[in-house]
Amino acid sequence: MNILFATSNQNKAKEIAALLPSSFELMTLNDIDIKEDIPETQDTLEGNAKQKSEYILNNFQLDCFADDTGLEIPSLNNEPGVRSARYAGEQRDSEANMQLILERLEGKEDRSAQFRTVISLELNGEQHLFEGIVSGTIRTEKSGDGGFGYDPIFEPENCGKTFGEMSMDEKNSYSHRARAFEKMIAFLSERSK
Ligand code: IMP
Repeated sequence: MNILFATSNQNKAKEIAALLPSSFELMTLNDIDIKEDIPETQDTLEGNAKQKSEYILNNFQLDCFADDTGLEIPSLNNEPGVRSARYAGEQRDSEANMQLILERLEGKEDRSAQFRTVISLELNGEQHLFEGIVSGTIRTEKSGDGGFGYDPIFEPENCGKTFGEMSMDEKNSYSHRARAFEKMIAFLSERSK
């Protein structure tokens, strides 16, 4: 079964491809030559995931899935949340985003955080949502240069290291995206029986 991931983010695509059973083949927007920026203008993760999958369905008549992820930090009123990509400005600079979080958490006792991913799947005229969450804490400084985005400052619960210090396979054994994606694969596998 071919399955289209409505993203051109190769980091995300690699993580997802590593989790895919051999009966599925993953394609991304790069594979089908869609180069335009998919709008992402909603104020919730659910809204953005749906907006992206619906855009591909409505403009290209293709079934697909899209994800949206946010880092939610209770002592920052659950920021950056849906604004995770642009927390420090429109330039979408991961270094500046991490720096801003470290500054805003200075002196705060509660450094708990969670990554949350929502996947929206368009399949045969129906839409299905799947959620994955990983809880953890924000370190006081960056550690590791693996992964992407906020990985060097996020330590998942009971791990002792950041996502940035993990191999992709290790990150996948804990991650928000992997958890949401595994729910979607279980659903698809059940459907294709
Ligand atoms: P997106 O809208 O799903 O692409 O995610 C928004 C932002 O969240 C990205 O630009 C990254 O900065 C961050 N992000 C998403 N997924 C991850 C992850 O797995 N690790 C670290 N940061 C992530």
